[in-house]
Amino acid sequence: MRRVAVLGATGSIGASALDVIARHPDRLQASVLAAGRNVDALLELCARHAPAHAVIADEARFDALKSGLAAAGLSTQPHAGMAAIDALVAGDTCDTVVAAIVGAAGLDSTLAAARAGRRIALANKESLVLAGSLVMAAARESGAAIVPVDSEHNAIFQCLPPQDGRAARDIRGLRRLVLTASGGPFRGRTRESLRDVTPAQAVAHPRWSMGPKISVDSATLMNKGLEVIEAHHLFGVAPGAIDVVVHPQSLVHSLVEFVDGSTLAQLGLPDMRTALAVGLGWPERLESGVAGLDLVRQGGRLDFEAPDLDAFPCLRLAFDALRAGGTAPAVLNAANEVAVDAFLSGRIGFLDIPALVEDALAALPAAEAGLDALREADGRARAHVTFAIGRRA
Ligand code: NAD
Ligand code: MG
Repeated sequence: MRRVAVLGATGSIGASALDVIARHPDRLQASVLAAGRNVDALLELCARHAPAHAVIADEARFDALKSGLAAAGLSTQPHAGMAAIDALVAGDTCDTVVAAIVGAAGLDSTLAAARAGRRIALANKESLVLAGSLVMAAARESGAAIVPVDSEHNAIFQCLPPQDGRAARDIRGLRRLVLTASGGPFRGRTRESLRDVTPAQAVAHPRWSMGPKISVDSATLMNKGLEVIEAHHLFGVAPGAIDVVVHPQSLVHSLVEFVDGSTLAQLGLPDMRTALAVGLGWPERLESGVAGLDLVRQGGRLDFEAPDLDAFPCLRLAFDALRAGGTAPAVLNAANEVAVDAFLSGRIGFLDIPALVEDALAALPAAEAGLDALREADGRARAHVTFAIGRRA
C-alpha cells in the first residue's frame, strides 16, 4: 500500500491525482490532503477519501476545518499553515508526494519531500524554475525519486531509460529534447492583435483543462519557457539542446532525439491522469481512466510548427533567464506570477505580462544562487513588479 500526500488537492492536478488514487484502493491511499484556502472543497475531499491528515495553508481557516471535520464525523486530523504541510511530508505520514501546489508557494514542500527521500510526483514546475539545482541535489542526496508529471516531462521520462525510478540524467547518445506546446488559445495571432484579449479568453484553453495561472502561462507561452527550465534541471540537458515545437492537437507530449537519428515520442489523449498514473505507479502501469489514442478518430493528422517568439516573447525570456543562470530564473518566475495575477484581476493587459517580466530581468541582474539568495531574488522581483504595476495605474 502506497500512502500518498496530495498537496494542492483542491486544484486541477489534485482532482486528477485523487481520481487515479480512488481507482486503486488496494494499492494507493490518500493519507494527507493539503489545500490553500478553500475549506469547503477540502472537507468534501476528506469525506470522499478519508485521509489521516488534512491541512489548510491559510491559518485563519483552521477552526472552520476542525469543526467541519468534527461535524462530518471524520477522524481526519486537522492542521493549518504551510509549515504543517512541510512537517507532514517529512514525517511518517506518506511515502509518495503529489507536489501540485501552484507557484513558488510549492517550493518548501517540494524541498521537504526531496530531503525526506519521498517518491515525488512533481507537477509544481515553479519549484524547479526557482531552485532546480537545490531540489535535484536534495533528491540525489536522500535518494528521493522524482517522477515528473508535467505531461511533456512525463513523456520524456517515459522515452528515456530511467535510473532506479529517477528521471534519467547524463544520458549517453542523447542529442536533444523537443518539448511540444499546444500554442494556447491565441496560436496564429499577431502580437498587435493580443493587446485587448481578456482573462476569460486567455484561460479558455483549446486542449487542456487546467488551473487559471497555468492557463494564462499557456496563452503567453511562458508555460513552455518554465518547462524548458524544468527540463534542464530534471534531465541535466543544456539549454542549447532543448527545443520547442508547436503541436496544436496535443497528442504527442514530447520527443527525445538520439545521435543515431532515432526520435522517440510518447503519445496519448490530453488528460493529466495518464502522467499521474505514471508518477504514482512507476515502474508499474496503472489503469488511469484515460481511453487509448485512436489517431483516426482524433482527426487523422498531427501538425507541427515553429513557435512565434515575436507574438509570444515569454518563451525567449525564459531561455534568456536559463542562460543567465543564478537568480535570473527565480526573478523570471516571480515577476511572471505577480503579472499573471494582475492580468487575471483585470489590472494590466495581456502584453504587459512579458513587458513586466523583461523589465524585472533587466532591473535585477543575475547573482549567485544559494537558497537565501533565491528567496531574496523572488521577493525583490515581486516588489519590483508590484511597484511597476502601481505606477502604471
Ligand atoms: P490550481 O489552481 O487548479 O490548483 C492549485 C492548488 O494549489 C489548489 O489546491 C490550491 O488550494 C493550492 N494552493 C495554492 N496556494 C497554496 C498554498 N500557499 N499552500 C498550499 N496550497 C496552495 O492549479 P493546477 O492547474 O492544479 O496546477 C498546479 C501545479 O501543477 C502548477 O504548478 C502547474 O504549473 C502544474 N501543472 C498543472 C497542469 C494541469 O493540467 N493543471 C499540468 C502540468 C503542470
Ligand atoms: Mg506541461
